[in-house]
This record gives sequence, C-alpha cells and structure tokens, in this order.
Amino acid sequence: MKKGIIFLIAAIMVIIVQGCSNQSNEETEMMKKKISQYAVTKIAYDETLLDERQKIVVNKLHEAAKLVDDIFWEQVYSGNKTIREELGKANNDYTKLVKDYFEINYGPFDRFDNDKPFYGTKEKPQGANFYPEDMTKEEFETWIKNNPDDEKAFTSEFTIIARKDNKLVAVPYSEHYADKIVKIAALLREAAEYADNETLKKYLLARAKGFETDDYFESDMAWMDLKNHTIEVVIGPYEVYEDALFNFKASYECFITLVDPVESKKLDIFASLLEEIENNLPYPDEHKNFERGSESPIVVVQEVYAAGDTRAGAQTLAFNLPNDERVRQAKGSKKVMLKNIHEAKFEKLLYPIAQQIMDEEQLPYVTFDGFFNHTLMHEISHGVGPGFITVNGKKTEVKKELQETYSILEECKADILGMYNDIFMIEKGVYPESFEKEIWATFLAGSFRSMRFGINSAHGGGNAIIYNYLLEKSAYEFNTEKQKVKVNYDKVYDAVKDLANKILMIQALGDYNGAKEMIAQYGIESESIKILRNKLSNLPIDIKPVYQIDNK
Ligand code: ZN
Repeated sequence: MKKGIIFLIAAIMVIIVQGCSNQSNEETEMMKKKISQYAVTKIAYDETLLDERQKIVVNKLHEAAKLVDDIFWEQVYSGNKTIREELGKANNDYTKLVKDYFEINYGPFDRFDNDKPFYGTKEKPQGANFYPEDMTKEEFETWIKNNPDDEKAFTSEFTIIARKDNKLVAVPYSEHYADKIVKIAALLREAAEYADNETLKKYLLARAKGFETDDYFESDMAWMDLKNHTIEVVIGPYEVYEDALFNFKASYECFITLVDPVESKKLDIFASLLEEIENNLPYPDEHKNFERGSESPIVVVQEVYAAGDTRAGAQTLAFNLPNDERVRQAKGSKKVMLKNIHEAKFEKLLYPIAQQIMDEEQLPYVTFDGFFNHTLMHEISHGVGPGFITVNGKKTEVKKELQETYSILEECKADILGMYNDIFMIEKGVYPESFEKEIWATFLAGSFRSMRFGINSAHGGGNAIIYNYLLEKSAYEFNTEKQKVKVNYDKVYDAVKDLANKILMIQALGDYNGAKEMIAQYGIESESIKILRNKLSNLPIDIKPVYQIDNK
C-alpha cells in the first residue's frame, strides 16, 4: 500500500473514532447527569441494639430480602435478566454508567422521567411483567366476562396472568416464583428459631406460611401485634403501583429495621400528652375533639436493609401497612418511620437546599433534629383537631365536607401544628428552649424540599399556603437582592398561631368555600417561590442507599 493511502485510511479512521466518541461523550454526560440525581449515601444502624441471637435473625432476614429483591426484578420487566447479562459483559465507561442507572431503576426505564427507556427503545409494558406483554385491558376484561369463575384468581394481588394454549390463566405467586419462595420460607423459619421475642417468632412463622399459601391475613394480624420488639420487619408482596395496567398485582418488598429506643420514649411522652396538646390548640374549646384516640400507632426505626419495590427509584421515608382492609378494620394500621433515611435525606437533599436559599445567619439553625422532630410532630398532629363534626345539625366528617380541598388543608394543618406543638413541647420541658430557632428555620428550608417540584401535591400546596401567609405577615422575609429567605423570630409564633386558627376553623366548620379561598389566595407559586425554586434545579432529587450490612 502506498503511504498516501495508508495516511488517508488512518485519517478516516481517526475521524470515525472521534465521531463515535463525541457522540458517546454527549450520551455519557447525560447518563452521568441522570445518575447524579441520586446522591450515594451510606445507611448505617446501631449494631449494639442487637444481641448475638438477634444478629443471626437479621442475617437470615437479609438473605431472604435479597431473594425478595430477585423476585421484584423479575416482576418489573421480562427483559431484565437478558439486559443485566448484556450490561455485565460490557466494559466501556458509558455502558458501566448505564448499568448503574439500570440498577437504580430496577430496569431500563427511567422512573424520574415517565418510565422512558434509557437502554434500548422498547417502551415499558403497562402491566410490567404481571401479564403477557401483548395482552390488552380489553382482552383481560372480556376473558372475565366470558369466564366469571376466573374473576377472583385473575384480579388477585397474588397471581400473575400467563397465556397457555391461547388461553389466559392465573398462576399463584407461590407457584410462579416457587424456586425463590421455598428458600424465603425456609429462611424465615430459620430466623424464627433464633427469635426470642414471641410476637416476632409468631410473625415470622405465619409469614413463612403466607409465602407458601399466598394468604397473608394471619401474618398481617401478627405484624400488628408485634410488641416489645427490637427487630421490626415486613417482607412480602404489598403495593400494587408497579402494575400500571390495573393496580391489581402486588410487588414484593422488604424492610428490615430496628426499633429506635430514644425516639420510642419520645413517642410515649407525646401519647401521654395528647389531651393537653388538643387542649392547647388555638381554636375555641367548643370545637375541640378529645375522642381521637384510635389513631395508627407510630414506630420510629433505623433501617438496616430494604429490598424490592421500595428500593426502586426514590427511597421511602415512612410506610403505613398493612393494606388488607380486614386487618385495618380489626387492628388499624401501623406507621413506621425510617429515622436514618430521614437523616440521609436531610444531609443530601434538604441541607443543600438550605445552603442555596437560607440567609447565612440562620443556616446553622437548619438541623436534623429540627427536621426529624417536626416530621414526628407532623404525624402526631394529623391525629388532633377536628375529625367528625356537626354541620347544620348534621353529623359528618371534615373529609366529606372539604372534598377535593381536604388533602391540602389536612397536610397544611399537620405542618403548621407540627411547629406550634413543638413550641408547646418546649413549654412542657420536653425540648430545651434553645431548640426554638431550629424549629422555625428548619421548617422554612424544608418547605422548599416539598415545593421544589411544584405545589400541586398535597404537601407542596400545604407548604405554599404556610410560606405565602407567613411572608405576608412579615414572619418570613425575602431578600430580593441576595435571593435568600429568613425567619423573623419576633413575628413568627403569632403568625403561625393565627394561621393554625384559620385552618382549624375551616375544618371545624366544614367550610368548603373557606378552604377554596385559602388555597386560591395562598396556595400559589408566588414570585419568591419561583425565584428560589429556580436555584435548586441542579441539586440531587433523591438518595441511592449503600447499606452497611452489605459490606460485611
Ligand atoms: Zn402528612
């Protein structure tokens, strides 16, 4: 070959290679940006809470949880196994990033971008992998119409739908995922052998049976009965959101957690003060409600490990289970709050927001204590104030009277009373006086975590009402030049009390028009909300947990 030709070929090769790498550079940057939406965070727990036998229980549950995770991967998408193999073989930077994002999303579909595919071009099947991918809603419905005896099995939370000899059939989870289910049940029984707390032992044994029979009633009841326990665990199929076709089919998930002794004591104190809290609320005694005793119990825990449904995309801060209405009727439900996940989100999401928007002098008062204690009191505050009310001599409920405005008003109430009642706890000596500034400053910064993606959600809307109302009363101050906000400590308590009174009275009177006016006037994206929100667009949106227990 002549030198000139060799040179020409080499030049062309360089152009081709550069062309490719330029294109993938762009894609690489985009993928990096997607991944940076999730701040990698170590999730640790206090190992000293466990004795040697409890450690064995936790390790067995950890093994079971990983199998639950495998099942969920299968539930999300039929192609997951093949894609994982493909991505596993690749060794260039871009593919490694795609693999990372695939792991975060539990599949090739972007959970923060309407499930758009980021690997390959296939759209996510609406029914995930719970139904044949080519089955339509109409086909399913027609089948049930023609075969009414199949309805129960077909709409069950615990079956998948398959196509066999051109017919649709329902296959129970215990059969369809049998290889893993058998191992999970065995691990739960082994864990039960080391569980010295009788209520936990009972739950684990009942749950093992539940996995094998697809009947979780007894074990859900046993979960509500857990008492004096350290290990708080849920494992099984629960939420139905992954099935976007019908919301019938439950996804497997697991939370292994430890009850937090310090927070449990705090909750006991709140429970003993519930009547005083109601009595202290800023609205007339004639409307006060002292009969709201039967609310859901709250447990604060440290998360050791989470798997399956709850691990995909955004991480859970708290959950309320079980979903079985029969159990809820008999025993209510239980709210479990994950303290170390709150801690992780505070550090990686809330504090960076505060750094962008809070006046520098008040930044030191944005603290994890301020954040978590408010979250706790928010939950307690849902349980005080008007519930059943009388309107024009007719017995009714706040929820019914306020209709579509109810959620925003109720979240707004829980947030405003969260602050008001925390101040009351200072008066009662539960918190030190020095805590006051943290309550105010942390809430203001935190409200931008809720409003960051708009004010259309109940939480975002409720926070907008508080922000705009307090701004109007000069309890919050916005500095246009610096583009920062701060609390006016002299004015904030009275303004909070004032707004609490207005919200409580709307609820007490079942005042639908009042609620609508309140939302129209204050539940809006005002100028300063817009300016401050714009400053947050490059911050992470959620966390990606890395568990201490995995690194042993
Ligand atoms: Zn709430």
